[in-house]
Amino acid sequence: MIIYNTLTKEKETFSPLEKGKVKMYCCGPTVYDYVHIGNLRTFIFYDIIKRIFEHFGYEVKQVINITDVDDKIIKNSMETKTGIYRYTKMFSEFFFEDIGKVKIEPATIYPRATDNIDKMVEIIEALIQKGFAYKAEDGVYYSIEKFKDYGKLSGVKVGQGLSRIKSDEYDKLSISDFALWKFWDEKDGDVFWDASIGKGRPGWHIECSAMSNRFLGDTLDIHCGGVDLIFPHHENEIAQSEAYTGKKFVNYWVHSEHLLVDGRKMSKSLHNFYTLRDLEDMGFDPLSFRLMCLDSNYRDKLDFTMDNLKRYEKTLNDINISFKLLEKLNESDSVEINEEVDTIYSKFDEALADDFDTHSALAQFFKLLDLANIKIKDGRIGKSEKKKIIDTIMKMDKVLGVIDKGDINKDVIELADKRKELRKESKWAEADAIRKEILNNGYNVVDIGDSDYIIVKKRNHV
Ligand SMILES: [Zn+2]
Repeated sequence: MIIYNTLTKEKETFSPLEKGKVKMYCCGPTVYDYVHIGNLRTFIFYDIIKRIFEHFGYEVKQVINITDVDDKIIKNSMETKTGIYRYTKMFSEFFFEDIGKVKIEPATIYPRATDNIDKMVEIIEALIQKGFAYKAEDGVYYSIEKFKDYGKLSGVKVGQGLSRIKSDEYDKLSISDFALWKFWDEKDGDVFWDASIGKGRPGWHIECSAMSNRFLGDTLDIHCGGVDLIFPHHENEIAQSEAYTGKKFVNYWVHSEHLLVDGRKMSKSLHNFYTLRDLEDMGFDPLSFRLMCLDSNYRDKLDFTMDNLKRYEKTLNDINISFKLLEKLNESDSVEINEEVDTIYSKFDEALADDFDTHSALAQFFKLLDLANIKIKDGRIGKSEKKKIIDTIMKMDKVLGVIDKGDINKDVIELADKRKELRKESKWAEADAIRKEILNNGYNVVDIGDSDYIIVKKRNHV
């Protein structure tokens, strides 16, 4: 497999620390709000690369942290007069609901920052002892000029006269010593830990160094995140982790690009800000958004527009109709197998192995569906060929995750059967009434001639 490494700025051949295994850390959500579609693109990307490694036979240990204490969380939970634990519990539940809707498979572990404070304190103590960190009046800070490799990921240059910054986020122009531990002040209310290094709470950056070390060890194969995390967050993670262990922290840094909306940065003030829940309220199938993400490579900016999303919803619907029709297609005894299927599948693999090129992989998936559509038009297919195409589609979908699975509600099937009988008796009005009932249940019936049908998920924008 070839991976573009942000650290070296080159495409490299992937070589794991341990044969057949991948240790992967992905920066997870800060649970202070609903997931917006920019975050969601990143989380879908984490899922895809995990699935691709698994597709190539790797055993993946994927750690995605939940940041459940930081500046924004404390501020919001205070403003809404909700205790921090109740507040973050609520938004982490929403997070899991949302990622489930776009078929993100669970990570191996989702550690919470507040469950790992002891590890953070342990690292900070070690950093003080080794001379990389110092106590100031309002917290413990990392002294970035002590770490000679500071800037190796992002290219920032450490200059003279460094300032200190307590806030977790800062811009590319201010290269500063950053807070590892923030001493308690009134703004923090009842959020603090009594630690050996003082009463306070951790900075954001130390959370990831602590959780990656605890769950994956000193060196990781892959660390991923959105490009906006390269500086300062990932630069700071490297400084903390490498100063702590004396070893290389990450072999491959993988970053996904921004999502734009109508060509602009998504922001609440521009009124182009969407959460997944907003899209659902507009009647979209969340998987249409997944398909949109797959069609754009992770290192390209993805320009989200409503028209595009509608187009993907239609494509998603077509994919599922074709697949169902293929399953129902009459078989002949022919044992002939179209060799094109193998070629398509190997090109699909080649694309995925080339820096997770899901756009080209998806093109092969569509090629295979085109092949199926020709057979559907013919009205018949050889038995072996049908099996081969279906098996190949299913193997591809283990990576893509766009084919509807799961049983259809028994009542819906009964309704569809009843409708079929009514149609046979030319009772069109009654048959139509039943179609509406099926739609109300979230499904749609597509007729095959006069005598058969398939049931697909109802989609509004097709
Ligand atoms: Zn992180």
